Amino acid sequence: MSSNAMHLRRSGRFQSPLSQGPIVLRPARTAEAKNALGPKSHYAAPFRPMGANSSATACTSSPSGTLVDLTGLNKIRNIDTDRHTVTVQPGVRIGDLAQELATHGLELGGGHDLMSRTVGGAVAGGCIGPAFGDDGAFFASQVESIRVITPIGKAIEIRHDQKNLLHAFRMSFGMLGIIYEIKLRVRPIRTFAVTHRRCTFEQFGAVAEKLARIDVGLKFFLLPFRDQVYLDIRRVGTGTTASHRIPWKVKDWGESTVLPHVFKSINRIVPVPGVRYRVIDEISKLTQGIVNNRLVNSGSNSTALSSSSKTNDAAKKLHYSTWFFPAADFAIVVQAYRDFCLRIKENSKFRCDMPTVGFRIGRDRSALLSPSFDEPMIALRAISTQAKGWEDFAIDFGDFARHWGGSPLFNQTREIPADYPAQVYGSRFDFFRKIRRQFDPENRMMNPFLSQYFL
Ligand SMILES: Cc1cc2nc3c(=O)[nH]c(=O)nc-3n(C[C@H](O)[C@H](O)[C@H](O)COP(=O)(O)OP(=O)(O)OC[C@H]3O[C@@H](n4cnc5c(N)ncnc54)[C@H](O)[C@@H]3O)c2cc1C
Repeated sequence: MSSNAMHLRRSGRFQSPLSQGPIVLRPARTAEAKNALGPKSHYAAPFRPMGANSSATACTSSPSGTLVDLTGLNKIRNIDTDRHTVTVQPGVRIGDLAQELATHGLELGGGHDLMSRTVGGAVAGGCIGPAFGDDGAFFASQVESIRVITPIGKAIEIRHDQKNLLHAFRMSFGMLGIIYEIKLRVRPIRTFAVTHRRCTFEQFGAVAEKLARIDVGLKFFLLPFRDQVYLDIRRVGTGTTASHRIPWKVKDWGESTVLPHVFKSINRIVPVPGVRYRVIDEISKLTQGIVNNRLVNSGSNSTALSSSSKTNDAAKKLHYSTWFFPAADFAIVVQAYRDFCLRIKENSKFRCDMPTVGFRIGRDRSALLSPSFDEPMIALRAISTQAKGWEDFAIDFGDFARHWGGSPLFNQTREIPADYPAQVYGSRFDFFRKIRRQFDPENRMMNPFLSQYFL
């Protein structure tokens, strides 16, 4: 932790009640959150907003102050079927919103797993999926306008035409205030065609550059110890008919619910690592083969997003770290990643039991802290159900990623050195810091984790 990490300036404008550890506040009304940040509040700074808390970093925690859990503000305020917008409170779960929109023939852009996460967390954090076309790579790009409680408890609106401010508030990780209402652009449900392919790392490397250049929704699963890659490629669905929800539910259930549960059990009951990982890889291979090759060949964001928002609690406990690599280099990076996994396993005996998940991330300039602001990227998310050995792996994965020019995301990337973000984000990072200082000169929204990068 840097020396300024714990530095929170005090001006005397706000009362500073003594506090032991953080207090959790779960407002049921916006006014409660507003009063909590206001000058007469009895709640202590720093304030850390929190949605479903599925982030992989310490961005939602603090050793002191107040954690503001926004899941109680969960109303869908308005669905405008003429203008194709929806206005929601931040605690609405993405799965619940997708289901409600579908009843109006509407859907969210992009495809996103983990339906239990909140709209507020997806807008203030980084949220990606196999997006293509006019989707916008990050969920936050769909934001039309937002209402925010500033760090001093003032309610403000950032309108659609205040582009620079909106660019700062999207993916602001709760540093500029608490977002209490969000207007999102939505669209009529449209179908896409899905193709599934299986190949080796070498074959994937050979087509990766082409896939990175063309506008397709790409999600893939890497099994480095089997030398297998499973691709889910989505395109505009000319001639495709709307697909049923059931196959997508089975696919989501297989990938997100069955695998983490089964692997946790296998890790408990099979003590010999060699045997254990053979079984785990075989199950991954079978699951990918069944869910990806047989079940689904068309869909819509509505069907792909419609699983229940309450089923993924086990998945939320996974350990993961996501890095973004320039798509133009990915043909080489993906092969180097396989070598890296094999080498780490050889040296430390640790390996991730879950397949590594990847996405093609189109260029997205809608947020200052967008990792794909300058060029398309490929995201790689390493995932493990096992805590033992994970922390060291995350450090090694960070070293690997930085060597290959990887960009981090502050709520999904573990082990980011304090001086690294300024190098990759350049002048956009300085600009964001300037805006942050203007909104929060007393650093009331900063915790030690964020302070090391942004103070
Ligand atoms: C199993 C699993 C699958 C996942 N799949 C994906 C995936 O497919 N794609 C993807 O991109 N990510 C994925 N993630 C990562 C994570 O779910 C996302 O980054 C998600 O957007 C976080 O949402 P949340 O509601 O949990 O937000 P939180 O983790 O609670 O918060 C995220 C950030 O936003 C801030 N914040 C939250 N609410 C507000 C608010 N109202 N106002 C201001 N700031 C706020 C927080 O302070 C924090 O900095 C996955 C995680 C897991 C565990």
